[in-house]
Amino acid sequence: MHGLDTYFWAHSRAGMFTAELTYLMLSGSILVVEDYRWRSIWRWKGLQSVRIFLWQALHDRLKTKSELARCHIPILEACDRCGALIEDTLHVLRDCVAVKTFWLKVVPLEKRQSFFSSNLSTWLCGNVDDVSRSHNISNWSIFFGIGVWRIWFWRNQFVFNQNSMDPMALLVDVSFRAEEMSKIHSHCLVTGRLKIDKWIRWHPPEWPSCTLNTDGAHKANGVSTAGGLIRNFSGRWITGFGLMLGSCSVTMAELRGTYKGIILAWNFGIRRLHVETDSLCATQIEANSAADFMANLACSLPRGLMVYPSPPLGVISLILYTLSGLRLLARLFFSS
Ligand SMILES: [Zn+2]
Repeated sequence: MHGLDTYFWAHSRAGMFTAELTYLMLSGSILVVEDYRWRSIWRWKGLQSVRIFLWQALHDRLKTKSELARCHIPILEACDRCGALIEDTLHVLRDCVAVKTFWLKVVPLEKRQSFFSSNLSTWLCGNVDDVSRSHNISNWSIFFGIGVWRIWFWRNQFVFNQNSMDPMALLVDVSFRAEEMSKIHSHCLVTGRLKIDKWIRWHPPEWPSCTLNTDGAHKANGVSTAGGLIRNFSGRWITGFGLMLGSCSVTMAELRGTYKGIILAWNFGIRRLHVETDSLCATQIEANSAADFMANLACSLPRGLMVYPSPPLGVISLILYTLSGLRLLARLFFSS
């Protein structure tokens, strides 16, 4: 920057000191509160794209029916999903019947009154700032940010593609993404390592082979699960499975998941099979996100094996990345 250094009054957008602004600031003005709100969004520890989404939501500028009507676009303001008279930002992200079921599964009983009654800015900033542990959620701030972002995604899926959202699938989807984000954040804090974005993709096998991706998951309550999927040389879904194991180590869960996957492949008549897992014992690093998702989905299953002839809703987007030739973005860590 060129030019001389100069004084700048922090409580004015133009940097000019005035008695009026100083009075408003000292008496608990809106300006100070607004500055705090923006800061809480930009401090959020997650993807930049989600941070920008949260910023837009805080400005009340998501293109909801209410916002489109405000912009003089001739459109009915009613919610397409539940029929409420006005679909505004708070309705889409929190109050819609289709969404409330999801929040009720994760918001503790003692916090529900304030959670469901606060205004938009208090609701967004208060939850974005809340890094406490809640239920089995290790970082509520990250979970909440990812949650509202995915809720908006699924709202658009319904409006434009008529794909409805299952609250349990949404819960798994958000939990999976938030857990990954929390791990990345914790890893950075502990190791102080540099983060470098690197594209990693899942590679389909050569014809006529198929690939089995498996993974295990271990939850804070001691329960372990496994899951996996089998795809052919073009990346198409052959079958998938989830396995609720109860109490066992994550290594045992991954081994049992791999075993079940191989049996399943054999029963499907598959005789040439590649097996991929992101276990520490594995020799290859692969984009195993779909298998991670299947393992986490098994947390909602009764004990035993569940076979999925077609892909569950939440895993479709992960598989589509591969089918469309796009690559999954992963973050690798290198010593600084
Ligand atoms: Zn609604």
